[in-house]
Amino acid sequence: MASDKQVTFVIVGGGIAGVTCAEQIASQFASDEVCLLTASPLVKTVTNFKQVSKTLEEFDIEEQPSSVLEEKYPNLKVIQSAVNLLRAEEHLLQAENGQTFHYKKLCICSGARPKLLYQDNPHVLGIRDTDSAQEFQKRLSKAKRIVVIGNGGIALELVYEVEGCEVIWAIKDKAIGNTFFDAGAAQFLIPSLEAEKKERSLPCKRARYTTDKTGGQSGATGELGSALGPDWHQGIELKGTEQNSSGVHIEYECEVSQIYTQQEFLRSQLDTEKSELGLWPAYVQLTNGTIYGCDFVVSATGVVPNTDPFLSGNHFELAGDHGLRVDDHMRTSEQDVYAAGDVCTAGWEPSALWQQMRLWTQARQMGWYAARCMAADVLEEPIELDFCFELFSHITKFFNYKVVLLGKFNAQGLGQDHELLVRCTKGQEYVKVVLTGGRMVGAVLIGETDLEETFENLILNQMDLSRYGEELLNPNIDIEDYFD
Ligand code: FAD
Repeated sequence: MASDKQVTFVIVGGGIAGVTCAEQIASQFASDEVCLLTASPLVKTVTNFKQVSKTLEEFDIEEQPSSVLEEKYPNLKVIQSAVNLLRAEEHLLQAENGQTFHYKKLCICSGARPKLLYQDNPHVLGIRDTDSAQEFQKRLSKAKRIVVIGNGGIALELVYEVEGCEVIWAIKDKAIGNTFFDAGAAQFLIPSLEAEKKERSLPCKRARYTTDKTGGQSGATGELGSALGPDWHQGIELKGTEQNSSGVHIEYECEVSQIYTQQEFLRSQLDTEKSELGLWPAYVQLTNGTIYGCDFVVSATGVVPNTDPFLSGNHFELAGDHGLRVDDHMRTSEQDVYAAGDVCTAGWEPSALWQQMRLWTQARQMGWYAARCMAADVLEEPIELDFCFELFSHITKFFNYKVVLLGKFNAQGLGQDHELLVRCTKGQEYVKVVLTGGRMVGAVLIGETDLEETFENLILNQMDLSRYGEELLNPNIDIEDYFD
């Protein structure tokens, strides 16, 4: 039944950004009602939060029924329904279940969805939420060969985790993992792709995703589930039909020019020995001319912010990547509407050592900071940009190696004006620092290097390191003592 509700704070989205924002607001304004509207039946909560150093943080994620949040915060109401209309001028929001909300402050945390190379092609799959990951697993279990397109974090994990199925990995760059690594780091990681699975499996520290009987489905539109996060593949077996691990073949510097169904391929005038390619459900033609038959294609080519239900009739300023542009108080261009997480694009002048990346940690930080900004505005208190936006920092795992990324880890935006120092021990560690004008501005640490805190300090304090030269990475020097 349709109903009208007056609420001080409304937050949209049950992912990490929305839940963190709702929790923070609900605890700060314990006597105000806070509504969290979400399309997905489960919400994502942060557990075991650990501040590893000044800016590095680690945490686990749990998917939980919304009742868990409501029990923890009696003033927080979680409504499982997708928002389908916003009238920002009237401060009014409408959900698919017919309910209307009049808010004082709204925070949009609706995340992003995979940027699919080909929309509505049954042979092309994107991975975003529990549902799509399960669909992927189902199709993989019958597959002999898949083609993976994209070179970001999801593609990296995917090609590494898939077993019993040949993987053709098409990337447009010269090296794998271009979003996170340079060619040197890629070279360090490549042997892991060739290693036997047995050697690879180390215990995983993080909690697995669970989908209990109450959930497991995306929202009504089928596309609105929360993004998965670290270890999304744990707990789902990514296995094809082949007994043995069938390997990964990388096609560098190319993109997909065409995807054919079997029928289209057989009828096509393509100048190729069709019979040699075998009979497959789909065929992918790459821009380098090569054609591969495959069972299906995984498109892991980035994400598009979920802004659609909020745009019509409003005047949101959008960034080049289609995110809702927010200022340094996480405010969009519409009055009293904030945004956080994957849906937004940082529109402030960033610190020289920070960049936005649509990652788990930033979703949490933005959700938390947006709540504090909303509170400060309500209480008419000043607030400064949080320290976490001073330095980009991210801990993750690729190919079973611990990976720490700091600052301008890939010399982003530095042009030629930088110098790199690299130390690498095959199969063990890869350390790269980025220096400009003798000061450290970024680092990539792969393996158990134990250098993250020292390097974080060196980056933050911008000490002139010119006189140390390459000694900085000398493994025989205990660098921590050096700078004490
Ligand atoms: P989401 O988690 O996407 O949540 C959005 C929420 O909004 C959902 O609850 C959704 O149901 C809801 N919603 C959407 N539209 C509406 C609507 N109209 N009305 C109501 N509710 C709506 N990051 C890392 O840091 N490390 C990783 O290793 C990593 N791996 C990843 C692997 C995969 C497969 C994927 C897909 C992402 C990965 N990421 C990783 C990225 C990370 O998951 C996201 O950056 C993060 O989850 C974003 O959080 P969010 O809260 O902004 O959005």
